[in-house]
Amino acid sequence: MKFYCAFIAHETSRFSPIPINLDSYRRSALYIPSTGEGEHLLDEVMGEDSWCGALRSMGHEVVIGPIAIAMPSGPTPRADYELLKRELVQTLRAAMPVDGVALLLHGAQVAQDVDDCEGDMLAAIRAVLGPTVPVGVVFDLHGNVSAAMTANADVLLACLEYPHIDFDARAIQMAGLVERAARREIAPVTARRRVPMLGTYYTTASPMRELVDWAKSHEGRDRILAVSVTHGFAWADVADCGASVVVCSDADPDGALALADRIAERYFALREPIRSARIGADEAVAMALAHDGAPVIIADTTDNPGGGAAGDSTFLLRALLDAKVENAALGMLWDPVAADFAIRAGVGATIPLRIGGKIGPASGVPIDVVATVLACRTDATQNAQGTISPLGPSALIQVDGVRIVLNSLRDQVFDPACFEAFGLDPRACRIVVVKGQQHFHATFAPFLSKVIYATPPGTVNMDYRTMTFERIPTPMYPINEPPFEAFGREWRA
Ligand SMILES: [Zn+2]
Repeated sequence: MKFYCAFIAHETSRFSPIPINLDSYRRSALYIPSTGEGEHLLDEVMGEDSWCGALRSMGHEVVIGPIAIAMPSGPTPRADYELLKRELVQTLRAAMPVDGVALLLHGAQVAQDVDDCEGDMLAAIRAVLGPTVPVGVVFDLHGNVSAAMTANADVLLACLEYPHIDFDARAIQMAGLVERAARREIAPVTARRRVPMLGTYYTTASPMRELVDWAKSHEGRDRILAVSVTHGFAWADVADCGASVVVCSDADPDGALALADRIAERYFALREPIRSARIGADEAVAMALAHDGAPVIIADTTDNPGGGAAGDSTFLLRALLDAKVENAALGMLWDPVAADFAIRAGVGATIPLRIGGKIGPASGVPIDVVATVLACRTDATQNAQGTISPLGPSALIQVDGVRIVLNSLRDQVFDPACFEAFGLDPRACRIVVVKGQQHFHATFAPFLSKVIYATPPGTVNMDYRTMTFERIPTPMYPINEPPFEAFGREWRA
């Protein structure tokens, strides 16, 4: 059989100060089939452990459409989005007839004047395919599920874990279901129950852990093929923002809807206990100092580059310096100019530097310091959940008791290598501040003593009541108190 695959993913924040264009995709991953640009990416997506590789290893032909992944930021310009969509439709048309379609999408992609890019792309694909060819999508649990997505995909499933350690496995699961649907062994239907709440939830902690395990335990029995518990991404500020439960069953829409309802009800009942606490910068540092054990990891959740923030905010750095903390580390502060100055000054130099606080009001104010340059690298990388990601020209500087990694390619901390590359072992620190919300957890968990999820002012503001949303419908928790039935449900047969 022949399968068509593509990978288009961008998490869009309408609150992000970072603009985006096609070049931004080029920096992460961009393959344009019509020109052949980025052809080297085909080897990666065809790898044995990928969803395409899984289909190929079953003996099927796989045609790859566009690949376009960019760091979270503001909405994609319309012309750039239309180019990607055109590539998607044209390569699919050229590949026809196909037996199935297996896509990797984010779910929270917004383009100028297109609030629901995934629904729009899926509708365009369905128009080429007609109603009977199975379409499967794996998406990020931070995706906002829309009616256009459920209407045009037969198999819709998200990763379940935050950190997203199961994304590749879920992609392979999705491809397997599409393959079985193409063989007419199963007839998948996907139902969605929307849950009227905004938030991001750590599946490493109770009671979210138990909810996900319970939801997942339904897979493989009573004709249930896949269950997804999505968080959504409020900062996209679209009408479909919020949590959802998505259930895919084998030809049993009533069963899928009933299970989606049951899981959604329990999910909604947990809204208070799973809600992120508000912890300011000074309070987070005081909590870390009061903890008996090391290292304490303070996640700078509101300045998470993985949520569209700059990664150069100074609230936690200010708090560390004010508290005169010894043996602390902070990374990565996105400041290409300061990194460049440190590299030019060289290891051992002590120089005045103005660091951070440059991109916008959410970054706070820059801090003027006298810094000693401890290490410089132009080739440092981290492992970003399987992808080797360069930090760009970077330096480790010391300011009082705090060692700071300055990087020049904006990214969240995925891996202790962000520190180790400069000879700094985070295991030996008392406090480590990481720019990021939760993905660091997968690699820091083996050695951390405590995690504090700090919420200083920032782009990824989690105090939803203070935000000015233009498109998110209310009532919506925690902006106000909606009834569980605030939104409907739908399914595709
Ligand atoms: Zn995500």
